[in-house]
Amino acid sequence: MRKIVILGAGYAGLRAMKELHKEAGLQITLINRDLYHYEATELHTVAAGTKAPADIIFDLESSIPEGVDFRSGTVNKIDVETQCVYLEDENIPIAYDYLIVALGFESEDFGIKGAAQYALPLANLADAFAIRTHLEQRLARFNDSRDENDLSIVVCGAGITGIELVGELVYRMPEWVAQHKLPADKIRITCLDAMPAILPMFDAELSRYAIAHLADRGVSFQTSSAIDEVTATGVRSGERVFPAHTIIWTTGVRGSHVVANSGFAQKRNRVAVEPSLSLKGHPEVFFIGDVSAVADPGSGHVYPTTAQISVAQATHAALNLKAQIAGKPMTDFTFKSRGTVCSLGPLLGIAQIGADGSMKLEGRKVAAIKKLINDTEILEVSSIGNMISHAD
Ligand SMILES: Cc1cc2nc3c(=O)[nH]c(=O)nc-3n(C[C@H](O)[C@H](O)[C@H](O)COP(=O)(O)OP(=O)(O)OC[C@H]3O[C@@H](n4cnc5c(N)ncnc54)[C@H](O)[C@@H]3O)c2cc1C
Repeated sequence: MRKIVILGAGYAGLRAMKELHKEAGLQITLINRDLYHYEATELHTVAAGTKAPADIIFDLESSIPEGVDFRSGTVNKIDVETQCVYLEDENIPIAYDYLIVALGFESEDFGIKGAAQYALPLANLADAFAIRTHLEQRLARFNDSRDENDLSIVVCGAGITGIELVGELVYRMPEWVAQHKLPADKIRITCLDAMPAILPMFDAELSRYAIAHLADRGVSFQTSSAIDEVTATGVRSGERVFPAHTIIWTTGVRGSHVVANSGFAQKRNRVAVEPSLSLKGHPEVFFIGDVSAVADPGSGHVYPTTAQISVAQATHAALNLKAQIAGKPMTDFTFKSRGTVCSLGPLLGIAQIGADGSMKLEGRKVAAIKKLINDTEILEVSSIGNMISHAD
């Protein structure tokens, strides 16, 4: 039996497990920090309180096929020379013949002063819940403090994550206003970005639709506003200060810190792997999902970090792992996008569908598409029971 160890039960890790578990002669161990899988693409809904944590997680026990050994534990280090993985608080290393690293993303603060200390990241379920708790406490506090900064939220980063979060916040805000009897006209949501354009990956008409929808609901967009400093009371960009007691950080992601801890050559904790997705000099080790950096052979640019690409990489790495075992050559990873979707709250969004993005959609039908994507993913890596229990 060959020992396959998969690190991380996010989109990439779970998909790799699903692709490999039926293969004869493999002993698969899946290691994940938590006992549950969370849908990272839905974290903004928990942060804004439009969904409860239970709505975006499913327990892993119910998704692990027979024959796969699941271990809950936090990976600390990988040693490719001795072919071992080390977990926190455990002295006995876990040996492997083949390793798939799918440890996912963490928040990237780019070393900006005060960001790590004062801004709230949105990179896992605990982060999302912490944002929601903080927001509710700050809003509720206004009635005693009368401090308008308790009603002010700054979202740093106007990429898809930042915009999806802002969309949920504007949808949820009327409920909070009613619950705490807040002055609606004093609520401030500001979204800051260093880039000159919002959602530049979308067709200009679609991004205009998104901006207009959010601006109509009171969101102030500040583009070309590189953040210089975050403090306990606001965000500074050049001479301008945006006061707020809730500062949320969605400017970008890096891969898991385990990558740097383990001494791999990396940039922002992403490893530049071979086109086969294996590690240079170690064909038995694969990096997939947000911990990998793979160049698109067409454009030469590194693929972005998305769930869609993570899943495609998992399928490809599993194929190449099986090829190696069978003594066959590995093939290069290529990716054809199925499109890009950005929600604007639970009820609508914008989307460009197809590899060339030629089908442009806006409004309520996009919410249905987003739901279909999430449901399909749960069905494919988990079970119909979990898919139905997540249907709303
Ligand atoms: C709010 C938001 C919205 C998004 N929307 C979209 C979208 O619409 N479409 C899209 O394609 N992408 C979207 N993304 C990006 C997408 O979520 C990521 O690209 C994707 O989650 C990466 O998948 P992954 O499997 O590599 O990592 P992850 O999903 O991060 O999974 C990593 C897993 O590893 C576990 N883990 C981490 N560290 C350790 C450790 N040390 N030891 C053990 N286990 C560990 C984690 O708990 C997790 O289970 C969104 C991201 C965010 C934050």
